[in-house]
This record gives sequence, C-alpha cells and structure tokens, in this order.
Amino acid sequence: MRLLITNDDGINAPGLWALVERAIKHPDIEVTVVAPDRERSATGHAISIHQPIDLREVPFDSPRARVFASSGTPADCVKLAVEGVMEEKPDFLISGINRGPNLGTDVFYSGTVSAALEGALLGVKSMAISLTAFENLDYTAAADFAIEQALCAALEGSWPCLVNVNVPAIPKGDIAGVAITRLGVQIYKDAIKRREDPRGRHWYWLSGVVVENGEIDDTDTCAVRRNLISITPLRVDLTDVRGIDALSRCSFRWPTCEA
Ligand code: MN
Repeated sequence: MRLLITNDDGINAPGLWALVERAIKHPDIEVTVVAPDRERSATGHAISIHQPIDLREVPFDSPRARVFASSGTPADCVKLAVEGVMEEKPDFLISGINRGPNLGTDVFYSGTVSAALEGALLGVKSMAISLTAFENLDYTAAADFAIEQALCAALEGSWPCLVNVNVPAIPKGDIAGVAITRLGVQIYKDAIKRREDPRGRHWYWLSGVVVENGEIDDTDTCAVRRNLISITPLRVDLTDVRGIDALSRCSFRWPTCEA
C-alpha cells in the first residue's frame, strides 16, 4: 500500500513521526511524507498561488519511507505529493496526528482536515486524525488506530472518501470504543482578548474556551467526552439540498441601473 502522510503541525511534530514509525513497521506499507516545514495549524484550505513553493528531501534512515518538507501549506503539500512527488497515486492519505482536537465546526479552520479534504478532492481516500489535548500527549493508540484503519480502507470498497477522526487523549486501556458520529458545534466564549500596547494602541488575540453544552447525542464532540474514538465521514459537497428547495420558491430580480 502506498501511504501518504502529511500534517499541519510541521515536519518536526511528534504526531507525524508516531504515524511514520508505526507505518514503516508494516512490510506492506510504502510511506511518502510531504509536510510543511513549519507550524501551519488553523490555515484551513489555503494554497500558495502568489509565491514559489520550496520542497526539500529530509534524510531518513529507512528505505521504507521518503520524507519531504515544504514551505507550502498543508493543502499545497498534498497537491505536491500527489501530482509532483509520488510516481503513482497513493492508496491512502493520513493527515496528522494533530496536536489538539478538530471537532465539529472547527473543521472549517483546520489545516489537518483541509489536507485530508485536498486528498479527497484528488481522488485519494483520506483520513484526518487528531488527539484531543495539547500537553503530555501519547500518540501510540491514535497511530495504531490510523494505520490499522488505513490498511482496511485500502481494501474495502465501501470505506468513505474522507473521514475525520478524534482520539481522546487518555490511556489506551481507558478508551471506551469507536463511535461513528456527525459533526457537532463548537462554541467559544471569550473568543477575543483585547490588550493595550506600551503606546496605548489596542491589539487583539483570537483565543477562547469551548463552551460545554452537556448534550448527549451522536456528535463527535459528545463521543470524545464519553472517551470514545470519534469517526465522522465528511463530504466535499457543501450544498444545502433543502436550501435549493427553499430558494426555488423565492423570486429573484436583477438590480437595474437606470440612467
Ligand atoms: Mn495542528
């Protein structure tokens, strides 16, 4: 299996290397890594069209993996890998393992999810995977899960083209199982911090803490709260089908310009 690995935390991120080390143990997996040369979290689906993109091979002491770092965004890395670096299309793409969750509506900002989405747009079955904490992280369980599922997905025709996985950051033995979920809603409070600089000008920092809604339902946010690995199939088509119906009952007028 040809496996493409990328991320948005950058080429030195421990979550990326946990995946690579786990994958190269498997004799049937041939790994290509193309990842940003720096932290690129929360860059969404940005691509670089106004400047050149650098790509350099990173020395790696196993013949099972080729590793590249790029000055591009996560989505650039996937385009470069699939259309520039790899001789044949990958059988599967894993983006991660991200440091921190990518749950609910936050997927719109996520470089991790956007890299997987780019894979799906290029016709590659793709998985975004995140560990739901920022400190004292052990990526072992998430890496095991990702590689095992990648092997299944490469064989199973019914596997969806894009999934978003969030793994609770708890000891492997405490994980309660796997839940197939839909995207929840992430609401933040105190989202903007205002500060004053020494010259009296204001500056702002986007931050905020998630408001826990306490709901028990079939969303990804609820699943990880219940110590379950959440797996959400995502689609590229954002069309609101009911919106088409609603719009078809509306009348439209062109704005007119009268001299
Ligand atoms: Mn990240």
